[in-house]
Amino acid sequence: MGKTAGAGKRVVMLNFFKKPLIRGGVHATEHKAETAGKAIFCDFPLPSKLYIPLQQHVGKPAEPLIKVGDHVLKGQLLAYSQGLISAPIHAPTSGIIVDVSDYPAPHPSALPIRTVVLASDGQEKWQKFPVVPDPFALDPEEISLRVGAAGIVGLGGATFPSAVKLSQGRRNKVHTLLINGGECEPYLTCDDRLMQERPAQVIDGIRIMLHGLGASKAIVAIEDNKPDAFAAMTAAAQAYPQISVVQVPTRYPMGWDRQLIRYLMGQEVPAESRSTDVGVTMHNVGTAYATHRALRTGRPLISKIVTVAGSAVAKPMNIEVLIGTLISEVLDFCGADHSETARLVMGGPMMGEALPHPAVPIVKGSSGILALGATEIKSTVEQACIRCGSCVNACPAGLLPLEMMSRIKNNQLEAAVGFGLKDCISCGSCSYVCPSNIPLVHYFKYASGELAARQQAQHKTEQTKRLMQDKQARLERIKKQQDEEMRQMQLEKQQRELAKAAAAAAAEAAQTAQTEVTS
Ligand code: SF4
Ligand code: SF4
Repeated sequence: MGKTAGAGKRVVMLNFFKKPLIRGGVHATEHKAETAGKAIFCDFPLPSKLYIPLQQHVGKPAEPLIKVGDHVLKGQLLAYSQGLISAPIHAPTSGIIVDVSDYPAPHPSALPIRTVVLASDGQEKWQKFPVVPDPFALDPEEISLRVGAAGIVGLGGATFPSAVKLSQGRRNKVHTLLINGGECEPYLTCDDRLMQERPAQVIDGIRIMLHGLGASKAIVAIEDNKPDAFAAMTAAAQAYPQISVVQVPTRYPMGWDRQLIRYLMGQEVPAESRSTDVGVTMHNVGTAYATHRALRTGRPLISKIVTVAGSAVAKPMNIEVLIGTLISEVLDFCGADHSETARLVMGGPMMGEALPHPAVPIVKGSSGILALGATEIKSTVEQACIRCGSCVNACPAGLLPLEMMSRIKNNQLEAAVGFGLKDCISCGSCSYVCPSNIPLVHYFKYASGELAARQQAQHKTEQTKRLMQDKQARLERIKKQQDEEMRQMQLEKQQRELAKAAAAAAAEAAQTAQTEVTS
């Protein structure tokens, strides 16, 4: 059951009749102490150049509306969203656009991605934004529009456009907004610090989101290893009875929406359903903060608070940096020793992405930069499965990781789907506990990618087949039409010839009759 806010505070009654329901998960070594006690550093030197990818979100990449040589103001729109699921991109500082072309993406492949390069003019001159006097006087749809225009995406790492999620929640008439303040990934403390240092703004963002959703209540879930954040958020929410702040056990992956819904509400989100089907939608605390900023100041999302940590980092900290800042510059500022870095990770160690090099930018989804030393990473020497069942116990989705893995190894991907591959959330709990160092989650990511590629290829083949069939049918239709026209023409010709012959015969008969009369 979620704990209450303490003496003198509102009592939150949750999950009365059922025992707490937590499925699977692991108690990962936290590594949070290095940064949890330090205030967010906000004076990072302005980079001379920012590299701003046009794809920082789930959905279609943004389309640039600037060109090389343009001068832009801080916060100015650089690229607009395309299609239903997309997000716009804004200038993190004022300066000159010096390039729009391909640069390495902050991804394990580091494959090129279309990027706007902005040379700072050092002025930090903001574009003027109209301020909304009262966001609660706006139509709920207007909240989604403004959140969308500010380029806000899920800042817990999912990067799904938040405006779309708000609209979906409203359409599905969700009753509860769940706010994930769990930050269950080891090392990361940026959400913890945000809740400690800017709780009033986060709560304000939650109130605005509630209005945009038309939901009746919000629950902020904070793991019990963050007592200061819990106290700060509880105090900030005191005046708003529609917002409950609750503590949940520290257990990875507690921030998964299904896990929280099960634990806090005793409700199971059925497989192949969404949380909105049970009346709940979840957003991250960082997203709530960005919503507050966008609605209260009109300013778009152009900076990110990231945790920089790992044993190769001399000065681990939480730092607010402009989107587009190179990770190498952030690491240098924090005194990272590249020769000591055995693995560079963007995000947390469980679900983050290993980067091949640091010459890639901070993006909207970056929550952590970890320069991990050799002692902090698990051995990569894979051994045979001993069928200990630890992975099964650890899986929060109730899957059978060892069975999926053995099917994938034998290239039986469909059989792996039968064991629940599509329900895998890539949390990495199974890999974490495996005594044989089997990188189970890597197999699942590979298989999911392969299945998606095969599905895409099949879709393409079917589309090509359909196009060919359509073409064939069209050609047959044209031929039939031409044959019919030809038949018609021949018929008309015959009729004309017959009429001509009949006319000639009639004329001849008339001539003969005339001759006979005359003679
Ligand atoms: S945890 Fe590893 S060794 Fe144990 S059953 Fe799962 S895959 Fe096999
Ligand atoms: S990565 Fe997938 S299979 Fe492994 S524990 Fe997480 S959800 Fe289960």
